[in-house]
Amino acid sequence: MAKLVNKPKMTFGEQVYMPAIVGGVGLSLRKFFKNTFSKRENGDIATISYPEEKRLYPERFRGVHRLTHRTDGSPRCVACLCCSTACPAQCIHIEPGEYAADDPRAGYERFPKVFVIDELRCIFCGYCVEACPCDAIRMDTGLHMPPSTNRDHFLYDKETLMSIPGADGSYQSGNTRHEPGDESYPGLTREHGH
Ligand code: SF4
Ligand code: SF4
Repeated sequence: MAKLVNKPKMTFGEQVYMPAIVGGVGLSLRKFFKNTFSKRENGDIATISYPEEKRLYPERFRGVHRLTHRTDGSPRCVACLCCSTACPAQCIHIEPGEYAADDPRAGYERFPKVFVIDELRCIFCGYCVEACPCDAIRMDTGLHMPPSTNRDHFLYDKETLMSIPGADGSYQSGNTRHEPGDESYPGLTREHGH
């Protein structure tokens, strides 16, 4: 059975809501004048004039992706598809290619013919970076995507991803790669096994 609840009694002033409206408008005006005329240097207001002024991001901030280079300028990526498999947003598209027969890497590893990340679909989880066995993809650029009204501008292809340096200005990674032909190279091939 329904229970009858009596409406609370309100004064005339409460029923017309005028005191609350005047109070709200007064608060907004106070904040407006304070934000407009206060000195930011005094720490009175928290807003900054972005993009001229930027806040310092934490060291672990995930910026837009980049593909790291080898010392010869080619991508470190071996098109293993680990990153695209790990990506929960399914926003990485890779088409692997085989090296030419006379290349020492032929038959041993592949390279990305096509590598595209849809930065609009990306949720910046960083799983792709964690999944990569080659340190070939990083999110250490410290950059936001430039704003655009065209969706296509957010499709970052291989050339774009390789043209972005890390926040330290480097296109490579600090992790050494043992290339075929190097003295440090362990000499493994698909034929000779691991
Ligand atoms: S950061 Fe996450 S969502 Fe974005 S490409 Fe990498 S795995 Fe996918
Ligand atoms: S970026 Fe790394 S995980 Fe992704 S395909 Fe290239 S080597 Fe594999």
